[in-house]
Amino acid sequence: MQTGMIGLEKIFSKSSFTREDIVYLLGLQGTEKTQLFAESARIKEKHVGNKVYFRGLIEFSNVCLKNCLYCGIRLDNKDVHRYNLTDGEILDAARFAADNKYGSLVLQSGEIQHLNFTDRMEKLLTAIHQATGGKLRITLSCGEQSQDTYKRWHNSGAHRYLLRIESSNPELYKKLHPNDENHSFQRRLDSLYGLQKTGYQVGTGVMIGLPFQTLDDLAGDLLFMQQFNIDMVGMGPYLEHEETPLYEFRDKLLPREERFQLTLKMIAVLRILMKDINIAATTALQAIDKLGREKAIKIGANVIMPNITPGKYRDDYLLYQDKPCTDENPDDCKTCLEARIALADNVIAYGEWGDSKYYSERIKKS
Ligand code: SAM
Ligand code: SF4
Repeated sequence: MQTGMIGLEKIFSKSSFTREDIVYLLGLQGTEKTQLFAESARIKEKHVGNKVYFRGLIEFSNVCLKNCLYCGIRLDNKDVHRYNLTDGEILDAARFAADNKYGSLVLQSGEIQHLNFTDRMEKLLTAIHQATGGKLRITLSCGEQSQDTYKRWHNSGAHRYLLRIESSNPELYKKLHPNDENHSFQRRLDSLYGLQKTGYQVGTGVMIGLPFQTLDDLAGDLLFMQQFNIDMVGMGPYLEHEETPLYEFRDKLLPREERFQLTLKMIAVLRILMKDINIAATTALQAIDKLGREKAIKIGANVIMPNITPGKYRDDYLLYQDKPCTDENPDDCKTCLEARIALADNVIAYGEWGDSKYYSERIKKS
């Protein structure tokens, strides 16, 4: 392969990237990295413009029956104070989102596969739409569920679903999860297919800078997203948590700043590969760099998820240490974000749903 600026131009002019091309792009440094970011910013501007869509994030429960080896709220972490917002608290947060013209809401929780949970979510979805006059698009992020559950929630007004593949390499996936039926790579894949079949706008993502992860794995992740026709992506740096089994491998990690830069490169390459999908600037970016999300917006992301969970619960949804904004309330978060997005030369698309353009095209074709 030809390297240097000429090599870069050559890659950018291709209609599709090979795995080798992507590995090369993810390894760029210095002026070549700047050129990659300029190209992804150009493509973003051309295909999705400079609007940033808000999704008000409600982390409504940290109760989880799974034991992912990286996650601070895993079942076996007994130091976590478990909480579950009341329906009233969730409805208040939804009204806050609608009143402040956030076009969408994300309801996120630990994973519970139980009929009571399915029923509760079904009723809540209907109640949220009623309370907000149908103003909001609702995204769910509640893990792997049965096909029937996905259908019931979709019929009750959930339009989008986020389920990260975490890693598209089954061998790496195994190293990040307990080796049992409850944490199977195949089941995760089947769940993603199930969501797509049900008609959701499907979002996925990965953590970046995990122990044992290579640039080749990350290139495979981007190709997976493309081959799967994913509509939305949220990916962020992996951040360690002392009370998790993966913490044992912390000496294998890249320095945090390098994980941050690698995440920006992943976002940039993804924007070039999938020009009109929605890409989120995730909170984990902000944990490393105070202006992390805005930097991601500048080079390719177009979605931000301001946290609107009532402040008193924030400290208990600690997936990783140093999570930002845990001591702020929803109003504080909104004000600080407005100023920062303006700094990134983007505008907030208040009151717009901001559906994935890629999804609209995909549905027209099918
Ligand atoms: N329980 C649902 C699930 O797993 O899909 C949704 C909530 S889960 C906390 C959301 C995401 O948090 C996961 O998909 C994972 O990628 C991310 N996450 C968990 N632990 C993390 C860590 N230590 N560093 C960065 N991201 C993490
Ligand atoms: Fe539970 Fe999701 Fe954390 Fe896994 S990543 S332990 S499913 S909350």
